Amino acid sequence: MILIDIYILILGLCLGSFYNVVGLRVLEGESLISPPSHCPSCGRRLSFIDLVPVFSYALLRGKCRTCHSRISPLYPFVEASTGILFLLAFLFAPSLSDMVVGWLLISILMIILVTDINKMMIPDKIMVFFFILFFIFRCFVRLEPWWDSLLGMGVGFGLLMLIFLVSRGKGMGGGDINLFAVMGLLVGTKMILLGFFFSTFYGALIGMIGMALGKFKRNKPLPFGPFIALGMLTAYFFGETLLDLYLDLFLW
Ligand SMILES: [Zn+2]
Repeated sequence: MILIDIYILILGLCLGSFYNVVGLRVLEGESLISPPSHCPSCGRRLSFIDLVPVFSYALLRGKCRTCHSRISPLYPFVEASTGILFLLAFLFAPSLSDMVVGWLLISILMIILVTDINKMMIPDKIMVFFFILFFIFRCFVRLEPWWDSLLGMGVGFGLLMLIFLVSRGKGMGGGDINLFAVMGLLVGTKMILLGFFFSTFYGALIGMIGMALGKFKRNKPLPFGPFIALGMLTAYFFGETLLDLYLDLFLW
C-alpha cells in the first residue's frame, strides 16, 4: 500500500511541475511542447537536474544554475501542493469517482494559481479546456440527479456575477466568474455553494487582516484565485463534515 501512496505522490509532483509550465506558457501565448524548458532570464535550456519537482529548487537554493536569477517559490509550492493534495484525495475520498473529482479540481486550481498570481489572469483558453473535460466526465460519471451539474454551473456563474455587479467589478474579474461556472459543472450545487462560502470567507478575513496590518492598499486589487483555491479545497475535503456539524449544532 505504501508503494501506491509514494507512486501517487510522485505522480502529483510531476503533474504539479507540468501545471506550472501550462500556466506560464498559456500566459505567454507559447506552445506547450516547444521550445523546451528554459530559464526565463538567461534562456539556458534546462536539463534533468533543473526539472526534478521540489528537489531541484531546494538543491539550487531557488536560483538558476547559470545566471543565478531567483526562481519564484510559487513553483515548488505548486509542485508540493499538487503532490500532497493528490495523495490526500486518494487516501480520504469516499469513492473512486470522488477521488477523480478531487484530482480534477486540484488540477484546475493549481493552474489558475500560477496564472492568477503571476498576471492576475484566469485565461479563457484554460477554462474552455476544463469545461470540455468536465462536461465529458459528467456525461459518463453523473451526479445524482444528473442535472445537478448544470444547476451547479448556473449557481457558480450567478453567484460570482452577483458579486461582480454589486462590487462593480472590483476585486473580481470575468475569469473568476468563468472559473466558478466551470467548477460548478464538476462538483454540483452543494459543493459550489460551500466553495463560494469558504472562498469569500477567506478573502474577507485575509483582506481585513492585510488592511489592518497596512500590507494591502484599499484600491489595489488582490488576485482572488488563491482564496478560491483555498475555499474550494476546504469545501472538497471538509465541506460535508463541517456542514453536518453546523446542522447538528443549529438545527437540533
Ligand atoms: Zn538563468
